[in-house]
Amino acid sequence: MNIILLGPQGSGKGTIARSLAKDFGLIPISTGDLFRESIAKKGKLGLEAQKYMNKGVLVPLDLTIKILTSRINQPDCQKGVILDGFPRSLDQAKALEKIIKIDYCINIDLPHEECIRRVLERRICPKCHQGYNINWVKDNTCPKCGSKLVQRDDDKLEAVKIRLEVYEKTTAPLINFYSDRLLKISGLGSPEDVYKPVKAFLSKLGGKN
Ligand SMILES: [Zn+2]
Repeated sequence: MNIILLGPQGSGKGTIARSLAKDFGLIPISTGDLFRESIAKKGKLGLEAQKYMNKGVLVPLDLTIKILTSRINQPDCQKGVILDGFPRSLDQAKALEKIIKIDYCINIDLPHEECIRRVLERRICPKCHQGYNINWVKDNTCPKCGSKLVQRDDDKLEAVKIRLEVYEKTTAPLINFYSDRLLKISGLGSPEDVYKPVKAFLSKLGGKN
């Protein structure tokens, strides 16, 4: 069973991916992580992608598809994968169809004000790179090392607003593309609340896959 996760920043995609991995044995895959791992290992595809990344341009689609294919074909992906952050456009979705059968697309819906509210609460430790919610730490200080926590530039209001706009524009066509296998859920509530209908839906399919 192969799943695509769609949802704006702050909608809790990471939590859902982790829960799906735990309950259904699916492997979460992010193309960004694949490239970073390949670069670290000095892999051929990673090094090729790095040339584009260093120039600040998008990695070409065929290269992304190549690295995805090699990951998906590894034995641990037998039960299926969860793709987060790819595809982001109609072209990417069409290219993906050629290498893997996507069974479901889970779309997490969350009002923009709520996405913004959640992202603005994010902080990160500049030393351990661990992420925190500002409400869960004392004095804006890293509980592990005592460093003052900071807000990533990406998590600042203007950046979030721009990303949400881009997300709306690029995702609308994807929702349409996957309309025959779309599971729409609300991102409001606790991570457990959000995950509940997903688990119920996929559990009902039982041994089908
Ligand atoms: Zn720290």
